[in-house]
Order: sequence, then C-alpha cells, then structure tokens
Amino acid sequence: MSRIQWRLREFPKTISQTVRFRWQYGKQCFRSLTYNHHMNQSYASDVCMEPIFWFVDNFTHLLGPFFVLAVVCLTTAVVTVCYWIGLPYWWNRNPYMTVFLLLVGHWLLLNVTFNFYKAASVSPGYPPEKELIVEAVSICKKCIAPKPPRTHHCSVCNRCILKMDHHCPWLNNCVGYHNHRYFFLYMLYTTIGTLFIIVFGFELGYGVLFLDETGGWKEVEPLQGHPVRFNLSGHIIPVTEMNDYENDGMAPAEHDLPVPRDNEHAATVHGTILFMALINVATLFALGSLTAWHSTLITRGETSIEAHINKSETKRLAAKNETYRNPYDFGPRQNWRLFLGLHRKRSFWRHVLLPSSHKPDGNGLTWVTIGAIGAADATDEWP
Ligand SMILES: [Zn+2]
Ligand SMILES: [Zn+2]
Repeated sequence: MSRIQWRLREFPKTISQTVRFRWQYGKQCFRSLTYNHHMNQSYASDVCMEPIFWFVDNFTHLLGPFFVLAVVCLTTAVVTVCYWIGLPYWWNRNPYMTVFLLLVGHWLLLNVTFNFYKAASVSPGYPPEKELIVEAVSICKKCIAPKPPRTHHCSVCNRCILKMDHHCPWLNNCVGYHNHRYFFLYMLYTTIGTLFIIVFGFELGYGVLFLDETGGWKEVEPLQGHPVRFNLSGHIIPVTEMNDYENDGMAPAEHDLPVPRDNEHAATVHGTILFMALINVATLFALGSLTAWHSTLITRGETSIEAHINKSETKRLAAKNETYRNPYDFGPRQNWRLFLGLHRKRSFWRHVLLPSSHKPDGNGLTWVTIGAIGAADATDEWP
C-alpha cells in the first residue's frame, strides 16, 4: 500500500468523523502539553494521606500512655463488676459452680495481666549498634544502618525493629521479635476472658436488660382499699392511724418477705450491666477477629508486614509462571512450636497455659530458612 493510499484510508470521511477526530486530537495535545507526574492518581492519593501518616508518626507515641491507661482502666472496671454483681449472683445460685468460676476466672485474669504487662514492657529487640552485623541483608534508608533479615523500620519508634510485626498503640510499644508471643497470648486470653464473662453472665444480663430484674420496686398494680388489722375476737378493724403500734405499746411484727430495694440502686445495676454487655461484646469481636487473623499468620510462618510482602511476591512470580515459597514457613505445626518457643523440653501446659517469660529461639538476627534445613550446620541449632 502506497503512502498516499494509507493517508486516504486513515483520513475522516464524514463531518461527524472530522469533528470527532479534531476533538480527540485536541484532547491529546492538551494532555501532552499539561502532563505532570504530580497529577498521577497514586501520587495524589499519597499526598492526601500525608497528613494522616504525619499524625500517626508524630502523635502515636504521645497518645500511647493514654491508650495503655484506657486498657488498664477498662479491664479493672470489668473485673470489679464481676466481683460486685457476678460473684454474689453465682454464689446465691450455686456455691460449687462459683468456686469453679473463680478458679477459671482468676487463671484467665492472671494470663491477661501477665501477658499485657510483658507485651508492653519487654523491648521488641533492635539490631545491635556500632557492631558488625554479618547477617545484614539490606540497609535501612532512615537509620543508615545494616538491616538483618525480617527487620523493619518503625516510623513511630523511629528505629529498626527485629522481626517487626506492627506498632501497637494499645501497648505503646512495637510488636517484634522479643514480645510477639506476649502480644498474641494477651489477645487470646482477653478474647477467652470476654467470652467467659458473656457466657456466664448472659442469664444475669438478660434478666436485668430485658426482663428488668434489677431488684427495684415495681408497682404492677396499685394497692387499693384500706389498711386493716384483726382484733382479739377475730374481727377486721380498719386502721386509721399509721402509728397504731406505738399507741398500743407493741413492736411491729417481723417478717422475712423480700424488701424491694430503692430505684436508684436498680438504675445503677442496669447501667453497669449495659456497660458490661457493650464493652465485652465489642472486645470479643475486635480482639477475636484480630486473634484469628494473627493465628493464620503464625500458621503460615509470617508477620503482618511479611504477609504483604509475601502476597505481592506470590503475584509477581505467578505472572512469570513461578511459585513463591515463604522462606520461614516450616509447616503449621513447626511454625507454632517456633512461635510459642516450645522446644528444649518446654511444654504447652507449663509455657502456654501458665505465665512464662522464656525467650524466643535464636537471637533475632540469624534466621533458619526452608532452604537451609537439612544442611549440616543448620541442624545443630535447629530446635
Ligand atoms: Zn531503621
Ligand atoms: Zn514502633
């Protein structure tokens, strides 16, 4: 096809085609003349998110102590209500059951307090400074320092964290190599604890919130008629004066009928039970889903940050028809053993069900990978 023929074929034939052609041409011209990298959509969204990042980076560590205080206050309030309303309720119903609930409740409380304290106070672990790190795989652009495998930079703590998972404002601490187990066990025991309170407080709560069984005086049917008493011959005599007993020099007869409590007490109980219902259900859903999510991560042998990296690596290699394997995934059973530190004859009963401050395996700098398993040097240290 000659050049002239080609031009004739491409050239618009009708008026509408000419107009459309001119419009497209003009639009392309305008776009190419005004193109700017800063008008890119992802760049624009980054700019819009910038104030949020700035706020998180600069204020999270300032707000941290208040978040920790909030957790301590809420937990204390919930436990106090369990003693104040839950304990007498169960004691009146079944003392043996109460003893059992006290044992389970205190076991949960012990684990919740211990793991929270440890998760918030134990340092997550930092790469050694002014020392040669032979394991380093990259350089942190912010610290200008070598970065061992699985280490990431935390913009809130403003330093590199060994096997960093995330920065937790509720602990006012980073979750990493040394406190990851405490963080997970705290979430797990708190979830079980709220479930425990909901299950064993359900009937009590349902009665107070929906059946109005607060012990307050409710006048179902107003009393009608006239107060009466019997005389010695058995005749009914209307009582005219309220201080009749005093005139007769007689003490009022004792009775053991339930005495209704005042309405103020009933309103306090109602409000307290409502608070308990809201806080426990909210915590159960929030921490329950977070515990489930972290459980799947532990089963796959990855941290929250590595989950993102592994996902994008899987996608990248899938495009090239290759399969990606997480180098720290040794299978669910071994991943859990490593995470909980259940080696060197440590047991589930002693080191998971009871508070334990055993340290994780290794030093957080050197990591055994799936490729190294079976190699002579790795097996010696491998738990
Ligand atoms: Zn860093
Ligand atoms: Zn941090």
